[in-house]
Amino acid sequence: MKARIDASRCEARGYCAKYAPGVFELDDDGYGRALFDGDIPAELEADARMAFDACPEQAVVLSD
Ligand code: SF4
Repeated sequence: MKARIDASRCEARGYCAKYAPGVFELDDDGYGRALFDGDIPAELEADARMAFDACPEQAVVLSD
């Protein structure tokens, strides 16, 4: 699974890094960014899905 943030949608609400701190972090302005360019570790996929569900802006993008 790959996980990224659609910067055009992100409104710096911070849920991604809260629910998936191993997958996302927040930059100095509070906008989310992905920690991995490629596939995320399998054990973090559940967290990534929680971040996907939590982001109110639909800015978390998951793909296979
Ligand atoms: S939860 Fe969504 S809106 Fe908030 S920082 Fe993360 S990606 Fe951006």
